[in-house]
Amino acid sequence: MRGRLIVVSGPSGAGKSTLIRAALAAVPELAYSVSATTRKPRAGEVDGKDYIFLTREEFERWIEEGRFLEWAEYSGNLYGTPERRVEEFLESGRSVILEIELQGARQVKKRRPDAVMVFVRAPTLEETRKRLTGRATEDSEAVERRMTTALKEVEARKEFDYEVVNAEREQASQDMIDLMRKIVKGGKDAG
Ligand code: 5GP
Repeated sequence: MRGRLIVVSGPSGAGKSTLIRAALAAVPELAYSVSATTRKPRAGEVDGKDYIFLTREEFERWIEEGRFLEWAEYSGNLYGTPERRVEEFLESGRSVILEIELQGARQVKKRRPDAVMVFVRAPTLEETRKRLTGRATEDSEAVERRMTTALKEVEARKEFDYEVVNAEREQASQDMIDLMRKIVKGGKDAG
């Protein structure tokens, strides 16, 4: 059986990565799609594992070569999902998580209507700001830019099949794990 394509999206600062990490550790049928980006690596990020770090020229070449399932510009950088790895995982029966922002999520939904759409958000906007500020790898201007985007993005939750509210980390991780198990095991109708 083919795996399922799972899109996890939601405002920056909602804690998507933490919840996805928990799900990947707990659900062996899941694989993670490593995105390509033109953003500079943050401290500790590993090329090929966290992202495939490309120059803008390289990224644009990949676009021309049709290598992306979706791509988008976000906060001044390009991000995209290389399609081939995703296809290989799905073919082999693994389900694949894409952790992507909203414009990309919408593209995937259009191109792959059977994708399962999962929205992750913080319980309040105050909490979102705290998390974005706490990251401290970005200057205040970048935080403000992301905050403005995050405000708009919360509106989008209605376009999704499922929502995980990240209020308390342990609980939200468990919610995400339960949801992923259900999607992976549920066949076509789970989404
Ligand atoms: P960050 O720079 O904080 O790692 O990511 C910024 C945003 O880009 C996050 O919302 C993240 O989910 C999103 N993102 C990461 N990879 C991709 C991708 O391949 N495509 C799209 N459209 N967004 C991505």
